[in-house]
Amino acid sequence: MKSLLGSNIKELENIALNYGQATFRGRQIYNWIYNYRNKNKNIDQIDVLPLDFRKKLKDDGYTVSELNFKQKTLASDGTIKLLLSTADNESIECVGIPTEKRLTACLSSQVGCPMDCKFCATGKEGLKRSLKASEILDQILFIENEMNRKVTNIVFMGMGEPLLNIDDLLLSIRSINEDFKISHRKITVSTVAIPKMINKLSLKSFQILGKCQFTLAISLHASNQKTREMIIPSARNYEIENIIQDCKQYVRDTGRRVSFEYLMLNGVNDKLEHANELSNLLKGFQCHVNLIQYNKIDKVEFQRASLKNLQSFQYRLSHNGIPVSLRKSRGLDKNAACGQLRQNVKNK
Ligand code: SF4
Repeated sequence: MKSLLGSNIKELENIALNYGQATFRGRQIYNWIYNYRNKNKNIDQIDVLPLDFRKKLKDDGYTVSELNFKQKTLASDGTIKLLLSTADNESIECVGIPTEKRLTACLSSQVGCPMDCKFCATGKEGLKRSLKASEILDQILFIENEMNRKVTNIVFMGMGEPLLNIDDLLLSIRSINEDFKISHRKITVSTVAIPKMINKLSLKSFQILGKCQFTLAISLHASNQKTREMIIPSARNYEIENIIQDCKQYVRDTGRRVSFEYLMLNGVNDKLEHANELSNLLKGFQCHVNLIQYNKIDKVEFQRASLKNLQSFQYRLSHNGIPVSLRKSRGLDKNAACGQLRQNVKNK
């Protein structure tokens, strides 16, 4: 299959030329995909194109969308989680998180994930494969169609480790920016952190995108190496101090501050001593900490930290001069944790 989604205007014009069509046919496809964000994603339905051109594209294996809708859950706060199936019959999840002014799409970058974070349903299943840029972008169209409004912000915090799919990640970011018209600054790439890849991310971003202005969010979740390895076993390959050094280099290279995600787990990482340790680790460079409330999942022993611990932790970081905010937990009531909907459907 060859997806038209993810192709820019020049590439679509060239496809049209290759079929003996005028270049404006390429622009018609571009408008149909990106500007009208048409609900119908079948080439047959691009009715501005001549029938024989549509047929040739189809016969040659072109598609607009390769994903199919499988299931949806809607939380009381309006958050939706979609389960989509791929052409090779795998399942991926994406989430639409609405507020009055924003619609944030939380996207998956892989089918499954090899990182094995102990708090995550996706990590329990291992990695099946990485997603193509077109499959990443298609999730945006599904969310927009379900929610009947345009996505304004993107977070790569769904299934998978984005830095293990760096080429397709950056190709999708290019299209999100140029074709979906979402600014780089409204895109967040979240990673557990892979040795050498933080540096590679900024280098490749400058090569492919000409800049590196999206937000890098590190899923830190601990204030020391021992606790981090307990929560994220794959962290044994990358010392926490080395992550911080690489992040400092990233700030120097890009001029962008780094976010640190910190999942508050009862009795594991939520004490004041951890807040002090984290402050010492992070002091002295441009960063921001997001504290996150944990959504409990089946067969995982971790519990959500109390609100009292969470607030004390936040206050201590702030008192120590570390910029910090508390991320509101959204869609809590329905399979909101990463990979949970997919796991529930599989279990059935
Ligand atoms: S939290 Fe993210 S990186 Fe960790 S296992 Fe789950 S999907 Fe993978």
